[in-house]
Amino acid sequence: YRVHVVPIKDDEEKIEAAVAVFHDVTDARNFDQMRSEFVGNVSHELRTPLTSIKGFVETLLDGAMENSDTCRRFLTIIEAETQRLTRLIDDLLNLSAIESKERIIRPKPVCVQHAIRGVMNILGPQITEKKLCVELICAHNLPRIYADEDLFGQVMINLLDNAIKYTPKGGTITIRCRQRDSRVVITVTDTGMGIPQESIPRVFERFYRVDKARSRNRGGTGLGLAIVKHIVESHGGEVFVDSEIGKGSTFGVSFLAV
Ligand code: ADP
Repeated sequence: YRVHVVPIKDDEEKIEAAVAVFHDVTDARNFDQMRSEFVGNVSHELRTPLTSIKGFVETLLDGAMENSDTCRRFLTIIEAETQRLTRLIDDLLNLSAIESKERIIRPKPVCVQHAIRGVMNILGPQITEKKLCVELICAHNLPRIYADEDLFGQVMINLLDNAIKYTPKGGTITIRCRQRDSRVVITVTDTGMGIPQESIPRVFERFYRVDKARSRNRGGTGLGLAIVKHIVESHGGEVFVDSEIGKGSTFGVSFLAV
């Protein structure tokens, strides 16, 4: 609590009473703490690829450039790190735009099946590379959802991208869409590595990763699911996850049916 005390004086300026006002600053302090944690996280995430880029550039300038194989190898790493920085900054800007309500949501009736097919096409090369089997099962007569089409696409890209990233070669990804009361529920189930029980409640937090090294190696930013949660909740929907280590995970989102 922050305490503010005001003395009450009589005619002769003698204090005869005092009024104490207690301000509950718990929320403000939590917010400050969250903000500084966030800034710390962002700085760390930005510095990691930069340190690596700097190291490889210095080694190249120090003479490694003479060998064309080494040169090519280092430049490939530098390129990948640059892409990761770009993705991180894009994700951060997206998240902050949605959070600050700067990104205006333009909902309209969206055909789920059509939108998901579009996303599957975008991710086609990654799906083929990992020899994954992706199936889309839509309930008969599924109503359209009321959503911003681009943002819905972003949700599906992030969920499918994770399912692809965290599922070994030859696995299966199943996307199911069905109606539940006034909502359409979409789930993405993979036969991947799964998530330890204790980590499940935290996966939607910004920058939370079960395995930092593994996420980074796969080009992850730790922001994908935080973005999913924000988009879905800003549409009045819900997110959920169920997972078993070594067996696979199911991520689900719900949107209002039209
Ligand atoms: P990242 O960029 O690290 O993938 P996300 O916010 O998308 O960040 O996911 C947070 C963490 O949740 C990941 O680092 C990973 O540990 C875990 N995760 C997300 N999706 C899956 C999945 N389909 N299977 C296993 N783990 C997952």
